Amino acid sequence: MGDCIFCKIINGEIPSKKLYEDDKVYAFYDINPEAPIHFLVIPKEHIESANALNENNVNIVAHIFNVINKLAKETKIAESGYRIVNNCGQDGGQTVEHLHFHVLGGRSLQWPPG
Ligand code: 5GP
Ligand code: ZN
Repeated sequence: MGDCIFCKIINGEIPSKKLYEDDKVYAFYDINPEAPIHFLVIPKEHIESANALNENNVNIVAHIFNVINKLAKETKIAESGYRIVNNCGQDGGQTVEHLHFHVLGGRSLQWPPG
């Protein structure tokens, strides 16, 4: 999508601190970290949000969770624990309309969120 900042990050138009990339997904550190470790995992395909998932594209979510599992180990938060967050739509607090999963760790996180 032409004006999507995450599509621009994937194609290199906007620089990012890359953690992982394959043919289907891209992972990079959040520019405004809310925890000592805070990265995002996104599909390379522009999918607007969890609301836009369907039987044709939902397999990407399983792949994203597999990548998160590997990256949690690499960033050394697997044992201490971490949180995977997907914000969907206005009330969910989604600000970038390209499906993304936050991974937050490295400190004890509060629950429930506000
Ligand atoms: P949302 O609020 O949509 O769930 O999360 C969007 C996230 O993207 C935010 O945590 C925000 O800090 C991050 N973000 C927005 N623009 C950029 C950017 O240009 N680079 C990086 N690395 N992260 C970004
Ligand atoms: Zn996009």
